[in-house]
Amino acid sequence: MDCIFCQIVDGKIPSNIVYRDEKVIAFPDINPLAPTHLLIIPRKHIPSLDQLSEAESPLIGHMVNVANQLAKREGISTRGYRVVINCGKEGGQGVYHLHLHLLGGRQLSNALG
Ligand code: AMP
Ligand code: ZN
Repeated sequence: MDCIFCQIVDGKIPSNIVYRDEKVIAFPDINPLAPTHLLIIPRKHIPSLDQLSEAESPLIGHMVNVANQLAKREGISTRGYRVVINCGKEGGQGVYHLHLHLLGGRQLSNALG
């Protein structure tokens, strides 16, 4: 499969994996937009949020829970942080393997668009 994040899951592309369990892994974004910028991704290839089935939707809760744990580990949980899922072309998605961004460590702008 020609998916860069599947290749990270499979260990074919090396990455500094900071968290792993049976469902997800987390690693630093290659182009960090904040002092903490981690990506939390499912091991399973789900192309985008739009293609997440209802049966699979508990995965999102798990990904958010992992983001919360990592925010604590990074020491940003009390200062505040942001979790983002971009979906599709107009949502700004660039990599078509579902992922949640964890951003923090600086004051983020209020702008969402
Ligand atoms: P999105 O625009 O939400 O699809 O975000 C995709 C993110 O993946 C971007 O922030 C990229 O910098 C990041 N990215 C792309 N390739 C890699 C990689 N090999 N390792 C880590 N992050 C990556
Ligand atoms: Zn994939």
